[in-house]
Amino acid sequence: MPTTPISAGRPNVIARLGSGEPPVLCLNAHLDTVGDAGWPDRCYSATLAGDRLVGLGAADDKGHCAALLVALEQLLERKIALRGTLLVAWVADEEAESRGTSELIERHPMDACIVAEPLGLGRALVTHQGFGWLDVTVAGRAAHGSAPEKGIDAISRLAELTRRLDAHAERTFRAHPHPLNGVTVYHASTLRGGTDYATYPADATLGIEIGTQPGETIADRVAEIEAIVTGMRADLPDLEARIDVRLHRPPFEAHGHERLWDALDGASRDLLGRSPEPVGENAWMDTGLLGAAGIPSFSVGAAGENFHAPDESVDMAELASVTELLIATVERYLA
Ligand SMILES: [Zn+2]
Repeated sequence: MPTTPISAGRPNVIARLGSGEPPVLCLNAHLDTVGDAGWPDRCYSATLAGDRLVGLGAADDKGHCAALLVALEQLLERKIALRGTLLVAWVADEEAESRGTSELIERHPMDACIVAEPLGLGRALVTHQGFGWLDVTVAGRAAHGSAPEKGIDAISRLAELTRRLDAHAERTFRAHPHPLNGVTVYHASTLRGGTDYATYPADATLGIEIGTQPGETIADRVAEIEAIVTGMRADLPDLEARIDVRLHRPPFEAHGHERLWDALDGASRDLLGRSPEPVGENAWMDTGLLGAAGIPSFSVGAAGENFHAPDESVDMAELASVTELLIATVERYLA
């Protein structure tokens, strides 16, 4: 299997089955996990607890990496004839900057893609929020603590802005949740400002994470914050604030995925006796990059517990069913 280094020691691993001709269907799972905080003593040896497999990344996403490998093996063993090409991609860096899936999209043209993530059997993710990591910096004026007529306290101004951001999130986001993706994500993440006890702080910066729903862009979120700053100028005409977008990712809404959906639907009705339930997420996933590249895609997977936390586990019975579901979907799509 060819591997492509994404960075030192971190490859994408790609398997190809079939003629090499279109249509090209891709199955994608991510190789990386988050850290082992809270359970380094036991997270590296997978253990069975009833019908759950426990270990670092068991559900997110090592179990699904294994499901893709078994699906590939079964397609070969059962000598299933495919028209077109199956790509199986185990990608790096999903939990960080998604460089694995970025690279996959760049180097491997494809007509459709299924991303395997721990969603729970019988569900298919067709939409999720985007996000931005923003720094909001308020200016003050440094001065000796005994000279209030000269100093401007950036921290106290930022505190007022933070209060108004919270109120905005409550009024706008919480009051209007997306039917599938839920309430738009908003929370404070980092705080910096000031130099010493005896000096008025010359600036203060709040780092926030803020979501975007399908149809919205990060520019919409920046405009809302700018409007809040403008509103504050009624009381503070000399208020200066700057918004820096450090990273943003687009929201996802499946488009043009009817043919792939029909294949999954047929496989689901055969194996589970029902159609998949379309669901959304408030979290971002690699489907956001696939959608932005115009590749019809959605996400399926087995149920898990304790994601990104000690005693993460995956439901083994569901993982076996998801594997069969993927095989049957591939067979139908590439029939
Ligand atoms: Zn994941």
